[in-house]
Amino acid sequence: MERDNQIFSLIKKEKERQLHGVELIASENFVSDQVLEAMGSCLTNKYAEGLPGKRYYGGCQVVDEVENLAIERAKQLFNATWANVQPHSGAQANAAVMMAVLNPGDTFLGLDLSHGGHLTHGSPVNFSGMLYRPVAYTVKEETGTVDYDLMEQLALKEKPKLIVAGASAYARDWDFKRMRTIADKVGALLMADIAHPAGLIAKGFLNHPFPHCHIVTTTTHKTLRGPRGGMILVQQDFENPLGFKTPKGQLKTMTQVLDSSVFPGIQGGPLEHVIAAKAVSFGEALTDSYKEYIAQVIKNAKVMAKCFIDLGYKVISGGTDNHSMLIDLRTKVPDITGKQVENVLVEADITLNKNMVPFDNRSPFQASGVRVGTPAITTRGVKEDVIETVVELIDEVITHIEDQKVITAVRQKVNKLMEGYPLFGY
Ligand SMILES: *Cc1c(COP(=O)(O)O)cnc(C)c1O
Repeated sequence: MERDNQIFSLIKKEKERQLHGVELIASENFVSDQVLEAMGSCLTNKYAEGLPGKRYYGGCQVVDEVENLAIERAKQLFNATWANVQPHSGAQANAAVMMAVLNPGDTFLGLDLSHGGHLTHGSPVNFSGMLYRPVAYTVKEETGTVDYDLMEQLALKEKPKLIVAGASAYARDWDFKRMRTIADKVGALLMADIAHPAGLIAKGFLNHPFPHCHIVTTTTHKTLRGPRGGMILVQQDFENPLGFKTPKGQLKTMTQVLDSSVFPGIQGGPLEHVIAAKAVSFGEALTDSYKEYIAQVIKNAKVMAKCFIDLGYKVISGGTDNHSMLIDLRTKVPDITGKQVENVLVEADITLNKNMVPFDNRSPFQASGVRVGTPAITTRGVKEDVIETVVELIDEVITHIEDQKVITAVRQKVNKLMEGYPLFGY
């Protein structure tokens, strides 16, 4: 067959974009060559509905071994006793858990989207807000940290069946222990969605959701630096909470319900090529060099927060415990929106994303803030001494937002800078 030059020239273009730019989107990263290789392998050809040893198709003997390795490494990495590595994404992992522990119309608590929460934690435009009854807790305006007292009041009043910890734009650690106390008071299950800080948690730099959380979900492509995907983890199995039934009868345990919720509940065949790449990335994450990488991610983020603050920007909560931070632009440049900053920085080959800030007066399409993170540039080898330069370049663009000459000059500096940090072994 003829080579599809149309698509491959676009892939080449995207590769150039990734090579030449400063990547600050907090949820992105650069995977290793062996993760890419596993993802681009012949495993994509295989149907393997079911679980290792219990498939609906023949010829699964090899992918069974692949998936078992992914499961074993995931358990080791997060100190879990059970893992399902099949969710196609973080959203799918959350959908499977909610399907397993909630009936339609049931109440659950999640962090407000505009305070850093994720769409799947109860947004009205997402399945989680359409099928169930979400109640949002928030952060405190003065401190920018999660209001656990409010969470407790809401739990006592609303009697949720599930409480969800975790966020997409929150720079501070979570008090899972306190959340479990709240959950126990009202008989709720506690789930942590560690999509963002998973790598920091795995290496012991942040509070661990286990043993406090009944269920943990995560993506595999953010700080974990694996392929795009999700997974579900449990440390201690427990009885099927809703008496969940399949046509074959009642399932006994939570992990059986979760497995059945992923498939056949919400997904068809698993992506075994992606599961192989997950296994590779978990193997990498188990090493000491990955621990050094995560330590550098955190060091870079702390320096970055300080640099922004020194230049007069407001960093929500005054700093960061993890790999990311949320910047409220209103103190420094009150007339400029997050959307404008995102767009103008693209012209300078710097990528970040606009983000609502707590108590924002603009819509999510404009937004008064931007979110930045250090996982991707740290993978490229950027150390804390260069972070100050990066923040100065961002500030130069924001403060000269209509000056094409400045923007072009910054882009040239960005491209020159990134030449020193190669990416891709081929
Ligand atoms: C990124 C993220 C997800 C969703 O991940 P996708 O793979 O994009 O579906 C879920 N929860 C949180 C908290 C996230 O940050």
